[in-house]
Amino acid sequence: MTRFQGKTAVVTGGAKGIGAATAKRLAAEGATVIVADFDEAAAQRTAEEIGGHAVRCDVTKLEDVEAAVEAAKSHGGSVDVLVTCAGIIRDNLLFKMSDDDWSAVIDTHLKGTFYAVRAVQQHMVEQKSGKIVLISSTSALGNRGQTNYSAAKAGLQGMTKTFAIELGPFGVNVNCVAPGFIATDMTRQTAERVGVPFEQFMEHVAKDVPLRRVGQPDDVAATIAFLCSDDASYVSGQVIYVAGGPKT
Ligand code: NDP
Repeated sequence: MTRFQGKTAVVTGGAKGIGAATAKRLAAEGATVIVADFDEAAAQRTAEEIGGHAVRCDVTKLEDVEAAVEAAKSHGGSVDVLVTCAGIIRDNLLFKMSDDDWSAVIDTHLKGTFYAVRAVQQHMVEQKSGKIVLISSTSALGNRGQTNYSAAKAGLQGMTKTFAIELGPFGVNVNCVAPGFIATDMTRQTAERVGVPFEQFMEHVAKDVPLRRVGQPDDVAATIAFLCSDDASYVSGQVIYVAGGPKT
């Protein structure tokens, strides 16, 4: 498929996990991809693999985000797609959650996404087209130990709808993908924190998933690619759960 031939995409958090799978999928379908990530070495590896461009970018820093968007302009000539995958967790029960745990998670997800969408909208509004996908989570519905993360992920769903309303008149589609448990470094970190081997942890989680398996980054990337494509040209302001079924 060549759904993204001639298109330029910025993927924040594109070095690893869901972001890397998305960068690969978009590139495989023809996009020039800017892999924007905190982790510069990993971003470089992903970019080399897909023939894209790596940019060191901390999404909480306005100048970094603007530089990533400028890189899209200079390498591809346009900014057609933005996928905001940069994310962190700092889990703790409410009574143990520090101010730093709160701020780091809120800033990375909410401020980081705000900066990225604000930076691309100018180009997309001018060219009267664009596709933006934000990444929420099933944790938006509430999850023990994730006051900060569930607040951020619920906030992203509200931002999606607001962006869709404001940018729709300019031909820009904005949607949100909310994954369940996906096998990445992020969930490996959770398994390590509770002291359970990752394979065993995933088997345990899969028992409660209607499809009886955990998700893979490619499962999420395929849905993101659909939402970034013209196949989804009349879909905007939606939250698509990619979670193997409803919570049981
Ligand atoms: P990973 O940890 O595998 O990848 C996230 C990437 O984002 C890492 O490369 C990370 O760099 C980078 N990153 C973190 N902070 C910043 C920042 N401030 N600026 C730029 N890049 C940053 O996570 P996943 O692939 O699992 O997660 C991707 C997104 O999907 C996140 O938003 C996450 O919340 C969401 N999600 C994940 C789920 C899962 O089960 N895995 C479920 C639901 C949602 P570094 O490693 O250096 O921190």
